[in-house]
Amino acid sequence: MIVFMRDGGSGGEAELAAVVKALTDRGFACHAVNGGVRAVVVQGGDAEAERLVLGMPGVHRVVLAHPGYALASREVHPADTVIRVGSVEIGGQEPVIMAGPCSVESLDGLLEVAEQVRAAGANVLRGGAFKPRSSPYSFQGLGEEGLKYLAIAREKTGLPVISEVMEPDAVGLVASYVDILQIGARNMQNFSLLRAVGRSGKPVMLKRGLSATIEEWLMAAEYILAQGNPNVMLCERGIRTFETYTRNTLDLNAVPVVRHLSHLPVIVDPSHGVGKWRYVNAMARASIAAGAHGLIVEVHANPDKALSDGAQSLTPARFAQMVREVRYIAAALRAMDGAEPPADAAAGAEAVSLSAGAGTGSGTLVTV
Ligand code: PEP
Ligand code: MN
Repeated sequence: MIVFMRDGGSGGEAELAAVVKALTDRGFACHAVNGGVRAVVVQGGDAEAERLVLGMPGVHRVVLAHPGYALASREVHPADTVIRVGSVEIGGQEPVIMAGPCSVESLDGLLEVAEQVRAAGANVLRGGAFKPRSSPYSFQGLGEEGLKYLAIAREKTGLPVISEVMEPDAVGLVASYVDILQIGARNMQNFSLLRAVGRSGKPVMLKRGLSATIEEWLMAAEYILAQGNPNVMLCERGIRTFETYTRNTLDLNAVPVVRHLSHLPVIVDPSHGVGKWRYVNAMARASIAAGAHGLIVEVHANPDKALSDGAQSLTPARFAQMVREVRYIAAALRAMDGAEPPADAAAGAEAVSLSAGAGTGSGTLVTV
């Protein structure tokens, strides 16, 4: 159930608090939201809860049935979420670029590539220490040693770091070294892991599952938000289709759809999306043009020697070129946003708005 409050002016917070108290006293778990409108998301809210609040001061309307991702939805939180990690803003105007090796392999190798991606304009350093490999015989990552190297690289470059966590029991350990916790595609519906990163309070990047619908992905984000952690970003990384020339099919439809349905920042991973370095730059550019708030890209000083995902890793020089092109597109979008169409544009050309959304979702309605 969602309780939407009237604006309420200066008394709005007190009215919201009174609604939360009335519901909590009756045993309902509540999440108060203030993201452009004031609302309360009520777990298990039913007709009785509705009757309880309908006459209360400031209550505008009550919705019983809605998609199962109320906290992630733009309906409840119209304003874009912007996540601050040090001096980096994720979800704002300027695209955020996260880059680094698929796996942390050695301290020297990491420091070398970290300095190269920083010099090329990356904002965040990526590197896997716990790797979800398809085969148990493949390199599994350096574990805590890899996390230590990431912390040293952060110290030396000033870049915040992101790394994957695969198990609920490891969340405390990984969170003690990194700035952003990554949930990998294979764990998108590992609900105990989602709850654990929700409780950690660290920013979380939630990758879309290999065969997950957008609705399932948003409901997975809801698990994290429902633990009281508002700093969730979504990452489109390609889905499984019948196509074999690319590793996955990068679903760029998801970018405008998620921006329409949700207030959470959207990041795109073109590296896993295509699986071949040759196609990464084109899809990075397309992602930003489609409205993504940022990219996460695999870069290796010597891709042929990489212990994982070398085929999709850019060299530092190719990455530097990608950053230049992506920043150029971002600047063009900013110039275009809200600007008059050029004089030679076809009559009737529509004004371009970066915040424009896609069609409406038609997902399952649930009562929370
Ligand atoms: C990765 O980022 O290296 C990774 C394993 O990604 P995904 O979970 O998207 O496969
Ligand atoms: Mn990888």
